[in-house]
Amino acid sequence: MKIKEITRYIEELAPLNYAEDFDNVGLLVGSYDSEVSGVLVTLDTLEATIDEAIEKKCNLIVSFHPIIFAGLKKLNGNSYVERVVLKAIKNDIAIYATHTALDNSKNGVSAKMCEVLGLKNTKILIPKKGIIKKLTTVVPSENAVSLRNSLFEAGGGAIGNYEHSSFSTIGESTFQGTENSNPVVGRKEVLQIENETKISIIFERKNEVKILKCLQAVHPYEEVAYEIVTIENVHQDIGMGMLGEFPEPMEEKDFLSYLKRTMQTACVRHSELLHKKIKKVAVLGGAGSFAISDAKRAGADAYVSADFKYHEFFKAEKDILLADIGHYESEQFTKNLLVDYLTKKFSNFAIVLSQKSTNPIYYI
Ligand SMILES: [Zn+2]
Repeated sequence: MKIKEITRYIEELAPLNYAEDFDNVGLLVGSYDSEVSGVLVTLDTLEATIDEAIEKKCNLIVSFHPIIFAGLKKLNGNSYVERVVLKAIKNDIAIYATHTALDNSKNGVSAKMCEVLGLKNTKILIPKKGIIKKLTTVVPSENAVSLRNSLFEAGGGAIGNYEHSSFSTIGESTFQGTENSNPVVGRKEVLQIENETKISIIFERKNEVKILKCLQAVHPYEEVAYEIVTIENVHQDIGMGMLGEFPEPMEEKDFLSYLKRTMQTACVRHSELLHKKIKKVAVLGGAGSFAISDAKRAGADAYVSADFKYHEFFKAEKDILLADIGHYESEQFTKNLLVDYLTKKFSNFAIVLSQKSTNPIYYI
């Protein structure tokens, strides 16, 4: 089994294409063509993580956070990042990171938080823009059905619970081939007027290469007329954070104790109590202060995330209970999610959950 077979499967859950622009995801160290001896799943890759991988005979580390984030200009071991990368290379260990690709997955980091907390009726808190694209092309009417069907097979026309969505109109096309052309219909250097079908079809950004290959392969013309645009509509199943509900509302203080227990954190920093019960909860793993207003807008009674600064707690404004459970703590179950996901598919090598806490923050 090669590394690329494992990463391809991870990317079905968390397409790299859906990572945020600032991020650095994918295979950071190593070769996609290496044979896998075992996989170690961790939240962060530290030197101790490399030691653990060596000890457990794992030559692929699947890490949530990317060890190389802002780029590396030197590799002389002066920082922990450089030492980790050097140690990985020396020991022939590959490092793969999912980070915001998994944050934006509807079965990713925040979904796992919802599962641990027992939240139901979940949906994405901040559905992502820029994910849906639209292809428009014109084709001779007798080829329209076969082209449409091929585009459906390449991933076109699928949105939410619907598949095979498209829109077609029949119209008149004109074209005239130059002396170097080889037209399928008509003759070169003669103006041709044809009845053609215009097909519009939406697809997810991750399928763009497949869609274009399919279009070029199936369309009968030498020069295929088409346009692709990114549409502004949000994708309801891709994005940061989640919103869910408890089956029964909980007293605020009970909620905070429950949060501490279930999310296994030594400390919950929270905003002023609202003296109302908690039913609707927004969650977002990792640094989530950017989504406080989204959580409020969504009508959440509480927002569970991490890395809130002093002034950000003021933004609660008696509207919402903000709970900072710690960055590591909010994302720690992501490891289990990845191990469970990989174990379901692969049984011919070990998939190991890292036993070392990589949390750099301690509480007294
Ligand atoms: Zn994080």
